[in-house]
This record gives sequence, C-alpha cells and structure tokens, in this order.
Amino acid sequence: MSKEKRDLKEEKKKRKCRMCGTRQAVIRKYKLMVCRRCFKEIAEKIGFKKFD
Ligand SMILES: [Zn+2]
Repeated sequence: MSKEKRDLKEEKKKRKCRMCGTRQAVIRKYKLMVCRRCFKEIAEKIGFKKFD
C-alpha cells in the first residue's frame, strides 16, 4: 500500500464530529468537521441558514 493510500485511510478513520464526537454524517465541507446536527447549531450562529 502506498503512503498516500494509507494516509487516506487514516483520514477516514479520524473523521468524526469535533463537537460531539459522533462519526455519523460528518460534514467535511468548509473544513468544519462536524456532524449534521452540530452543523445546524453552528450554522445558525454564523448565519448559514441555507443548510437543511
Ligand atoms: Zn456533532
């Protein structure tokens, strides 16, 4: 396995919400690294209301 592939795998393993720690539905978009639920809370605070 190449180093790149291994890094990618590690990246996947580490993917979890930095607020509540869940690994489900974690959004990496915008480098937020939070799950959908937490994103909604954040979104309201930062005025990002488009996300549903
Ligand atoms: Zn969360």
